[in-house]
Amino acid sequence: METLNEIYHEIVEEKKVLIDQSFRDSVATIDKKGKRNFLFPKKPKGKLYNLRTIASLIYLAIFFTLPFIKSGGQPIFLFNVLERKFILFGQIFWPQDFFIFAIGFLASVVFVIVFTVVFGRVFCGWACPQTVFMEMVFRKIEFWLDGDAQKQKQLKAMPWNAYKIRKRGVKMAVFYAISFLIANFFLSYIIGMEEVEKMITEGISSHYRTFLSLIGFSTVFFFVYYWFREQACIVVCPYGRLQGVLLDKKSMVVAYDFVRGEPRGKLKKAVIDTNQGDCIDCFACVRVCPTGIDIRNGTQLECVNCTACIDACDAIMDGINKPRGLIRIDSEENIEHARKNKFNWRLGAYSSILVLLVAFLAYLLLSRKDVDATVLRTPGQIFQTQPDGRISNLFNIKLANKTRKNIPMTLKLENVKGEISIIGNNLTVPAESYFQSPFFVKIEKGQIEKRKTKLLIGVYEGDKKIETAETTFIGPAD
Ligand code: SF4
Ligand code: SF4
Repeated sequence: METLNEIYHEIVEEKKVLIDQSFRDSVATIDKKGKRNFLFPKKPKGKLYNLRTIASLIYLAIFFTLPFIKSGGQPIFLFNVLERKFILFGQIFWPQDFFIFAIGFLASVVFVIVFTVVFGRVFCGWACPQTVFMEMVFRKIEFWLDGDAQKQKQLKAMPWNAYKIRKRGVKMAVFYAISFLIANFFLSYIIGMEEVEKMITEGISSHYRTFLSLIGFSTVFFFVYYWFREQACIVVCPYGRLQGVLLDKKSMVVAYDFVRGEPRGKLKKAVIDTNQGDCIDCFACVRVCPTGIDIRNGTQLECVNCTACIDACDAIMDGINKPRGLIRIDSEENIEHARKNKFNWRLGAYSSILVLLVAFLAYLLLSRKDVDATVLRTPGQIFQTQPDGRISNLFNIKLANKTRKNIPMTLKLENVKGEISIIGNNLTVPAESYFQSPFFVKIEKGQIEKRKTKLLIGVYEGDKKIETAETTFIGPAD
């Protein structure tokens, strides 16, 4: 006797045959002659779209506020690739922090891979700046200026007359103005808000490079959001191109429940044919898709997991009194086996790895020191006997101050009694600079039992110990 699972597999195999796979040979935005198919997605509506709007508002508020927030007179985020100055969460990273960047970068790559394997492309639809600005800023403005999809199509088909010129002109001006605004903030993450403000207050002539960068970025953003649009995700984005190798049948993605939905057919036919699935072939899910695909064909490279099709299909299911979730976030394997429970061991294990990676990245950032200290005994010197009978060694300390303030430092012997005398009596490390100074360590002869004594020197900023440097103290052999 066949088990329930076997029966399901038969249904699945039978239904898979029905699904034409030829859609994978082309992308929805390129026609047979190789020309761009411009898309006019319908305005999405629904619970997830509202949630996405709220998430985007928070996202945009953070994006436009962060450049103004300072800690100790410096921005808390700066990615100045030109001068190799990086600030993350208020901490300045120097070239000698490169290893943190390298390890952090590797950990981030692993994070992205593991996250994608488990949760699919949820980042693309909900947190990628390209999608957030395209769908939640420019697309909304487009709906407001030009109306919904049908009106936009009519406007495109219209011959060039005064009305169309005015409409297009207004849209271009508004899109460029917003691109210019975004470019200002984008640039402030690279060179700092102060530099952008200087250009505004002191004039373009003395800051023409900043101005040219601003115009360059504005033009690129305008081009991307006015014309290029979803092509950025489909053709350019390397993360999007990786999906084919990262996703598998267990990944949680926006998916169509083909077991429940097939064979699809019009609503009228469903009344006669009781074997018909729940999909009434209304194309509501396709009409809202910003990348122009039909998610009923299965997971596709173009799907950015924006969830607009879920809202559209749920509204249809409500209208025909069927349960919601014909399109939902689920794994292909769960759908095939009609499993309700979305939690599996892999989800748990991979999520734990993600938490560990985030903790590791946070540790790397938090454990980073403001001052790096290296203590070395001065080469060519052994020991000296002081007039008071103490034995002294000459050392050299090299300090790198990664902050934007001068830091006075002190040195203390941690494991032996003795005295440290800094030559010049000053150990203040200037902001964002290297500093070095020779110093003597003087120890009572009675404390030295062998030729080489391990020495621990504490490097302090006020009462806070920055580092303990380990070196050796050379004494008389007897
Ligand atoms: S298929 Fe659905 S989730 Fe994917 S891009 Fe289209 S509307 Fe968004
Ligand atoms: S919106 Fe739902 S019912 Fe309509 S075509 Fe898409 S999957 Fe089928």
